[in-house]
Amino acid sequence: MHPKADRLSQVRRHLSDSLHVDALLINTPSDVRWASGFSGSVGTLLITGRQSLLIVDSRYGDQAREQSSHCEVVVANALDARDEELVRALVGDSRVGFDDKRTSYADWRRFQSTLGCELIPLTDPLAALRARKDQFEIERIEAAAWAADRSFTDVLPMVLQGGVTEREVRDELESRLRIHSAEGPAYPTIVASGPNAALPHHQPGDRRIREGDSVIIDIGALVDGYRSDMTRTLFVGEVDPLLVAFHELLRRTQQEVLNAVREGVAASSLDAMARAGLAEYAGDILHSTGHGVGLDIHESPWLRSNSTDVLSNGHVVTVEPGLYRVGIGGVRIEDLVLVERSGCRILTNSTKDPSCPQSAPTT
Ligand code: ZN
Ligand code: ZN
Repeated sequence: MHPKADRLSQVRRHLSDSLHVDALLINTPSDVRWASGFSGSVGTLLITGRQSLLIVDSRYGDQAREQSSHCEVVVANALDARDEELVRALVGDSRVGFDDKRTSYADWRRFQSTLGCELIPLTDPLAALRARKDQFEIERIEAAAWAADRSFTDVLPMVLQGGVTEREVRDELESRLRIHSAEGPAYPTIVASGPNAALPHHQPGDRRIREGDSVIIDIGALVDGYRSDMTRTLFVGEVDPLLVAFHELLRRTQQEVLNAVREGVAASSLDAMARAGLAEYAGDILHSTGHGVGLDIHESPWLRSNSTDVLSNGHVVTVEPGLYRVGIGGVRIEDLVLVERSGCRILTNSTKDPSCPQSAPTT
């Protein structure tokens, strides 16, 4: 069962305890989905101390009533009609929070002139609530991680044999995700080979994978709206000794960080630990150490140097140090983990052996 009713009451408590507003206007699709269950791409959710009002256009009326039975659902196609509904619901509420990253300037101006209340800008207002996953969410993220593990394992021989293009590997991985019961990829799958592996977010192209390549595969699955995220780096035959050194150091460093993940640890200290472990190659670090994953592929908490987040039981985060050298290639190892009171549970279980001798062709 979807824990919608509980989520709405959590938001209501959050309004008074943390956000200090009387009501909250939500228009980020993943926030709307988390709080109400409605999975459409456009909708406005207003949560006050008294009610939860979900306003959608006529494409989504039936879907919203079915998915968001704990909300009052109203269909409004024009912005004027939407704003009238908001004014009706906001009687007596003087401080209304809105999402300052998602609300357009045009909408903000409309709200200023029509709502008759003080608009309070809030950044990621539900981030802290969404970061702690409940059992319903953990089960879906686990299923997504499992589908990505299976798909990666399926394509290992194809990659290690060489001769296929990055796109062909990407297409095979994404079709495997669906075979393993996922809705599809959680984000555009990354397959980066040879010099392309020096680019952390390379988009797969027509380059053929060949002897001497490091191949970064970054794959996640989507299950019921929830996502997984994992990266492995494979070596095709003999690779540049620098890449071997990168891999050994990253594997050791990533394990140290994984060992340190537990409730109460500052996320910034994990980023610092990864950077200290990789200090010898500090110039080859191009990104921070990790991020939360849930309905969005990148969400709170953030494992980076300026993060103020503290890990808590139920957070789901990545640990993904990487090293990249232009002209040679790159290595990244990424796991998705569930934070627990005294440690963490690793949800992605694919082999980290870059040459996978047991899977390599025998000829
Ligand atoms: Zn990733
Ligand atoms: Zn990631």
